Amino acid sequence: MDRVIVLIAYPCGGKDKHSRMLIDFFKEKLESFLYIGTGEKFRNLKKSNYTSKLIEDSMKKGELLPNFLSESLVGSDLIKGFSKKKNLIINGFPRNVKQAKTLLEMMNFYQRKVDVVFIKITQKEALKRLLKRGQRLDDSIKTIKRRFKIFRKKKTSLIPFFKKNFNLIEIDGNGTSEEVHNRILMALGFYFNDLPLLR
Ligand code: AMP
Repeated sequence: MDRVIVLIAYPCGGKDKHSRMLIDFFKEKLESFLYIGTGEKFRNLKKSNYTSKLIEDSMKKGELLPNFLSESLVGSDLIKGFSKKKNLIINGFPRNVKQAKTLLEMMNFYQRKVDVVFIKITQKEALKRLLKRGQRLDDSIKTIKRRFKIFRKKKTSLIPFFKKNFNLIEIDGNGTSEEVHNRILMALGFYFNDLPLLR
């Protein structure tokens, strides 16, 4: 397979969880893949460097980081690790139209089509999940509300861009993670009998 799958969601919408479940699915199928999770990469930066300190301060406030940071992260991972037969899973990028244009340019270069999986949950559900999770630096009611507001604002221009340039798949993010995972696999057109969790 040579799929390019982008996961986007409201904060606490399950992007990380569902990226991991997709990775496990690809591993089980012995499919090679490249995974790029921008949020995770930013969180894991060593705190010793000047840029990473600025990144941490910005993330704590729930703000989006400047485009050049995520674009160069994604770009350098593609340059280092992408190839013809590899699937690509991207989590957390693009977050705005500028980044989406960059992704389009990247995938035009590699001649790949993109599926964008948009996992939808309500703010109420997000807050409920946050209270259960609550271990990340940017996990507080105040910052999650801010992240939610930013996402909603960016979404207005992102969704039409996705619809025009990529294959946009909207997924109901409510329910158990297995249910949502199965919805994602089915929407991506993976073979029904391959779904190990389907009852
Ligand atoms: P996430 O884990 O995807 O929710 O990302 C956590 C935080 O990392 C976000 O709130 C942003 O501060 C930052 N971040 C991650 N990806 C991006 C991106 N593509 N553009 C800007 N900021 C990002």
